[in-house]
Amino acid sequence: MHFNDKAVLVTGASRGIGRAIARQFAKRGARVAVHYREGRDAAEETLAVLPGGPHSIVQADVADAGAVERMVEAVVTGLGRIDILVNNAGIYEAHPPADVSYDDWQRRWRRTLDTNLLGAANAAWCAARHMIRQGGGRIVNVSSRGAFRGEPDAPAYGASKAGMNAMSQSLALALAPHGIFVGAVAPGFVTTDRVAWRLDGPEGEDIRRQSPLGRVATPDEVAYAVAFLASEGAEFTTGTIIDVNGASYLRS
Ligand code: NAD
Repeated sequence: MHFNDKAVLVTGASRGIGRAIARQFAKRGARVAVHYREGRDAAEETLAVLPGGPHSIVQADVADAGAVERMVEAVVTGLGRIDILVNNAGIYEAHPPADVSYDDWQRRWRRTLDTNLLGAANAAWCAARHMIRQGGGRIVNVSSRGAFRGEPDAPAYGASKAGMNAMSQSLALALAPHGIFVGAVAPGFVTTDRVAWRLDGPEGEDIRRQSPLGRVATPDEVAYAVAFLASEGAEFTTGTIIDVNGASYLRS
């Protein structure tokens, strides 16, 4: 897989899976825009580990539609174009329905959908505008196994990722005539800071045993699937959702 001279925007790339995705593209020749929301230092750290370049850094709250538009414009200004968009930024906030207040329930739903689903939808729209003009592009959305398996402690998270899957499929249909190919990657648990407390806690062993491999995914394994979907030769996979869950949840 080569991405020589491709311009790639990875949202939420200051740490975790996003950082691994940025590295995956950079080491295969791409110029990467590292997006972050807050904590520029972490984004600078990502930038520092990227080979090649020149790469750039962009800031935005993806839950803010105006900020998303400015983010994409900044990428096009900085890198000259946008060939690949990876919607990776996302939040997981617990709101078990039997325990939270109605106010809290509404707040978590709104925040989760605004970030995970509307943020990705808006970034896709803004990037697609440029890709259509350029004659093509790729959009890869980082979804979750939770879309299929259910998220009892965070129903909005599961719904946001199921929405992201459906959005990917609809965009694949709508944008194929413009040479834009769209896919999603649905990881199970991944070793990132965000879930370290669960993997290191009392339920860690049970989580690892969900897979016959007895472990969870690494960020690089997710990044590899993202790169595959964005690669030349993978065009006919458009509309697909790749599971990266070590056979911990099978569907057909
Ligand atoms: P993470 O928390 O390390 O990274 C998420 C990134 O998104 C962070 O950099 C954060 O700043 C950014 N972000 C969150 N809200 C934002 C906002 N409003 N505006 C801009 N940026 C925002 O998490 P991660 O584990 O690396 O997860 C990355 C993606 O993978 C997420 O979409 C997550 O849902 C998905 N995922 C993760 C796992 C896992 O086990 N870690 C499993 C399945 C799916």
